[in-house]
Amino acid sequence: MEMILAKMGEVVLKGGNRRQFESKMLRVIRARLRPLGRFNVYAIQSTVYVEPEEETCDCAAAFDTVGKVFGIVSLSRAYACEKDIDAICRAACERLAPELSAAKTFKVESKRSDKRFPLKSPEISSLVGAAVLEAFPHLRVDVYEPDRTVYVEVRDLSAYVHTDPVPGAGGLPQGTAGRAAVLLSGGIDSPVAAWMMARRGLELEAVHFFSYPYTSERAKQKVLDLAKILVRHTGYMTVHVVPFTAIQERIRDCCPEEYFTLVMRRSMMRIAEAIAKNNACSAIITGESLGQVASQTTLAMGVTEAVVGMPVFRPLIGMDKEEIVKVSRRIGTYDTSILPYEDCCTVFTPKHPRTRPKLELVEEAEAPAELAELERIAVENVEEIRISR
Ligand code: ATP
Ligand code: MG
Repeated sequence: MEMILAKMGEVVLKGGNRRQFESKMLRVIRARLRPLGRFNVYAIQSTVYVEPEEETCDCAAAFDTVGKVFGIVSLSRAYACEKDIDAICRAACERLAPELSAAKTFKVESKRSDKRFPLKSPEISSLVGAAVLEAFPHLRVDVYEPDRTVYVEVRDLSAYVHTDPVPGAGGLPQGTAGRAAVLLSGGIDSPVAAWMMARRGLELEAVHFFSYPYTSERAKQKVLDLAKILVRHTGYMTVHVVPFTAIQERIRDCCPEEYFTLVMRRSMMRIAEAIAKNNACSAIITGESLGQVASQTTLAMGVTEAVVGMPVFRPLIGMDKEEIVKVSRRIGTYDTSILPYEDCCTVFTPKHPRTRPKLELVEEAEAPAELAELERIAVENVEEIRISR
């Protein structure tokens, strides 16, 4: 029978909380597999077993789905067979044929957790290896750098064969770290920041600042499209679209130009914190990376976060753009992020922004705008768009 063997990562380090983490993760896997057919999902030690229970189950889609679940570090499409050496050899040669045909070299690694099985691991490996060599005469054994490894696992309920596992999402199960509000723009960075923190177990609310007509409906749609991609990983998310035009115009009219961006970002943070509190979130996430732009210098981030009381998480802070792009490709947001729609941050950008701002001067620059009332109105008029898988 074809099935999925998935390895839990850090969940297993959770000591007394392990059961809770594990059951949360299993619940996520079961819920996400439901549209793909009936699957039996259970965990033994640090392995999750996903077994289709009907012919019509979509196993390829299930594999993709399980690979995105936070808490799973690696996974394999495996084949369960009887705990009998002939059945194991047959399963390896027949079921793993596509991978073995494409390889030039291989090795077999066996693990016997059921100690009642009469053969020891090295004996299993050598018998399965001999069977594979006979069935695929073009193959050679290479124990150091094989193209493929055939894994044989003899466990309590069954024996399993599979080839090399692929990496899973890693991290900690959804929701085990609480909730946070992520500032989601249409760029490359913030979706990556969202995914990285969701992967550490945070449930997310997204906050998007929308400056119609300076930014278009299409720019907003792009953010919703990014949220849809993120939801493949996080399960669901609400995007809170903040009407931000009046605030930006007020800043333009009342503040010295070189402080536009800083004042705007402080306003974003205050609004984000209000939305966060209304939605039981206890942290704010941004896609900032040290030194990337004028508003992301050490001092600029200092004056920006000075307006909020909750922790501000910036998972990309020490990453280079190339590394961020790599993650964005991996999670599938890159192609959407690079579509050329404007962001509210590019509206009214100063020619010479302050890169080493002093807090007192920023406060002085900000005061004439009297933003508190406009911010309250913005929070009251947020549009909530719920996105699910
Ligand atoms: P990104 O690629 O995420 O847009 P960026 O490199 O363009 O980031 P900035 O535009 O300075 O950088 O924005 C820094 C962070 O502020 C973003 O990562 C995001 O978290 C937040 N942010 C910027 N613009 C918006 C917006 N319109 N709505 C919500 N959050 C925003
Ligand atoms: Mg941006």
